[in-house]
Amino acid sequence: MVPISMKRAAAPELSPREPPPTLELVRDFINTLHTDTGLREDAIDSPQALSRWLAEHKLLAGRQHLTQADVHHAASVREAFRELLEANDGHPADKAALEILSRAARSAQLFVDFGSGDRARLRPAAHGVDAALGTLLAYAFEAMSDGSWRRLKACNEHDCRWAFYDRSKNQTGSWCSMRSCGNRAKARRFRAKHTAAVD
Ligand SMILES: [Zn+2]
Repeated sequence: MVPISMKRAAAPELSPREPPPTLELVRDFINTLHTDTGLREDAIDSPQALSRWLAEHKLLAGRQHLTQADVHHAASVREAFRELLEANDGHPADKAALEILSRAARSAQLFVDFGSGDRARLRPAAHGVDAALGTLLAYAFEAMSDGSWRRLKACNEHDCRWAFYDRSKNQTGSWCSMRSCGNRAKARRFRAKHTAAVD
């Protein structure tokens, strides 16, 4: 019998508070949608824009002809990721989001690739957008395995929900930025308390 070795390759020199580059890519994908009060910017809202973004981030081999269905699929996976990030801040995981991600992993035909030496990786057997999303799902899976996933969160400010990597010592960060969203939430709490006191 061939002995099974699952020895991991030496991890790159990363501070535990720095995200692996693959997880940064997942974060950037989630942040292709930027919302703020009255603002909505979506960097992958057309087949052309999606193709450009995926190609620029080496998730597609060059620009490809994509469809509106691809745009819809990518956006649903992106928002399912965002729902999952909220679970990293103590909210219950959204079952529909989990199902979307599991289905996308099946469409990507993720398989275990032992071809890169002593480190097995998940890779997509599918093509096109399914494969691009599959690569991001594989990166999320790796981050869940190495523990870095828990630090990827969605900003608690409801108008924002920006994905950010929580570098705080105790993983207690709730806002993408204390200066903007954190202060907005604090000001709201202060106003609510003050109003309650006046009532
Ligand atoms: Zn925010």
